[in-house]
Amino acid sequence: MDEESGLCYVLLDLRHLGEEKINKRLPMIREIVIKTLGIDPVDEPIPVRPAMHYMMGGIRTDLYGQVLLDGVNTRVPNLWAAGEAANVSVHGANRLGSNSLSECLVWGRLTGAAAAKYAMSAPDSMLEYSGDIATKVANEESRIFDKLLHKEVGAENPYAIREELNRTMDTYVYVFRDKSGLEEAYSTIKRLRERFSNVRIEDKAGTTTRT
Ligand SMILES: Cc1cc2nc3c(=O)[nH]c(=O)nc-3n(C[C@H](O)[C@H](O)[C@H](O)COP(=O)(O)OP(=O)(O)OC[C@H]3O[C@@H](n4cnc5c(N)ncnc54)[C@H](O)[C@@H]3O)c2cc1C
Repeated sequence: MDEESGLCYVLLDLRHLGEEKINKRLPMIREIVIKTLGIDPVDEPIPVRPAMHYMMGGIRTDLYGQVLLDGVNTRVPNLWAAGEAANVSVHGANRLGSNSLSECLVWGRLTGAAAAKYAMSAPDSMLEYSGDIATKVANEESRIFDKLLHKEVGAENPYAIREELNRTMDTYVYVFRDKSGLEEAYSTIKRLRERFSNVRIEDKAGTTTRT
């Protein structure tokens, strides 16, 4: 168990591979471990824990990233998705390592080009409609952030809430879960939501109010 975080881990021992092989086959792993944990896997085993790393599924799209509404491939006008948010169906039930970035590159380009082409040829009325939506979205974002940033009262530190949420998820909603742990997590999250309504952001540097 890690004393600082109180979280459990197992040890991954690469020492039998030797420095030469680690440098040749796993140079990035060695660099990351040295930089992030301050230990050298040539000399010491690496503490490891599972973490969420990719969300399978996503918004169904056609081959050019346009969002599909239903099982009969009805296209949603003005809406494209690419990357991890999209489900173009390149992956099956699971994703092969390193496929995600190649998906981002390929479908980022295809989808971006298709969306740009559509925007260039869309009738003005459609663009006005989209502009209207963009303004509404921007106004809504301003409303949310301005409310948070300009609130002068509030006793809760948002970072403390985030830290407790992380700790709760790591402890109770991890690989091994049980009913009582999930109930504990559920009630903690409910409490954190209530506390969040009382947050105060001290550092307002670099913020502007949009109109
Ligand atoms: C630890 C880790 C290691 C990984 N290693 C690999 C690997 O080795 N190979 C591989 O192929 N894949 C890897 N992946 C997966 C890969 O990194 C992601 O699938 C990929 O980066 C997703 O790219 P994206 O552009 O779709 O989404 P993201 O990179 O998540 O970009 C989404 C962006 O949208 C922004 N955003 C979110 N909400 C809003 C909002 N409301 N308004 C405005 N902006 C918003 C976010 O801030 C973010 O910048 C790894 C993932 C993790 C977490």
